[in-house]
Amino acid sequence: MDAALRLEQCAVAATENRVLVVQALSGALHPQTPQELLVRLAGRMNRVTLYRILDLLVERGVAARHNADGRAFRYCLGQGAHGHSHFHCTRCGATQCLNPRLLEPGLSRILSGLPMQVDMAEITLGGVCEACQHD
Ligand SMILES: [Zn+2]
Ligand SMILES: [Zn+2]
Repeated sequence: MDAALRLEQCAVAATENRVLVVQALSGALHPQTPQELLVRLAGRMNRVTLYRILDLLVERGVAARHNADGRAFRYCLGQGAHGHSHFHCTRCGATQCLNPRLLEPGLSRILSGLPMQVDMAEITLGGVCEACQHD
């Protein structure tokens, strides 16, 4: 999806810097630390501006923030009706975003049985990733 469109769908004005951050997030295959994002942005933004934009994106539901390994916060684009979920490899420490479409059907079934109104559900699966299984 177009970065500017994604921002506008979440009622965030698509400024140049915000578009750059969304593009940096969408080009990544795994959740990004702010440090990784700064590298991807190649000096086009300072740290303070980046943090401010990330906070805004999380607040408006454009991006998700999580710390699967209990260390640095990582950011990725939050897709899916209830945000999305991750897989954390306990062997190599890598975290991957899971396709929301894989979990959404089961999640919807679980949530529909709950009396609460659930707006977000973040599931972190842990285990051994595909690459590490072949080691
Ligand atoms: Zn692994
Ligand atoms: Zn993710």
